[in-house]
Amino acid sequence: MNDNKIMALHQAIDKHQIKGFLAQDEAEALYRFALEAANLGPCLEIGSYCGKSSVYLGSACREKNSTLFAVDHHRGSEEHQPGEEYHDAELFDPTAQVMDTLPALRRTLDLFDLQDTVVPVVAPSQVVVKQWATPLGLVFIDGGHSHAQALADCLCWAEKIQPGGLLLIHDIFPSPQDGGQGPYLALQAVVARGDFHWETTVNSLGVLHRR
Ligand code: SAH
Ligand code: MG
Repeated sequence: MNDNKIMALHQAIDKHQIKGFLAQDEAEALYRFALEAANLGPCLEIGSYCGKSSVYLGSACREKNSTLFAVDHHRGSEEHQPGEEYHDAELFDPTAQVMDTLPALRRTLDLFDLQDTVVPVVAPSQVVVKQWATPLGLVFIDGGHSHAQALADCLCWAEKIQPGGLLLIHDIFPSPQDGGQGPYLALQAVVARGDFHWETTVNSLGVLHRR
């Protein structure tokens, strides 16, 4: 039954040309894991960009009458800046001379009717985590991919997850030929805490379960 819902989401994402960095199998996994974890508490993502991941996590949260907190400063990661590999000129604010993905996120949330489910939090991850007190059912980390940033995000947010909850980390590449090592090293640091079990990997999405 959920398969039809996922197909409909994929089709709507394509139709509206929602920009993002998420493969279909990873998107589907976000939806399924969020459905499972939403019973434990709200979900939270670091790195919303234009809202592709927010649609899959948020749709699951809406089904469970839960909430997704979507954290992003909306100024882009290093690789999104002008002249860098993943720069998109359509997302650059020429007046302020900065990246601004917040309007695209809002448009996506409107298109998918997620205004009452997804709460955008427009700030750097480390500023938000400092005051965060609500125990979470699921956290999805897809913000800055440097070793330092990925490590800080994974370790700080892991603390906020309920026992039985999930930590999902994007861009896990065990082999350096396939991609940057920041998220993978951060995942290993979380596993070294001893209270998270690396359950599975869907494409480049690492799935950790808190005991
Ligand atoms: N999950 C998205 C892709 C995220 S791209 C998708 O499904 O397509 C990475 C995002 O992380 C960018 O939008 C960038 O602005 C954000 N980001 C990078 N460093 C951050 C930080 N320290 N705090 C908050 N957001 C950050
Ligand atoms: Mg990513």
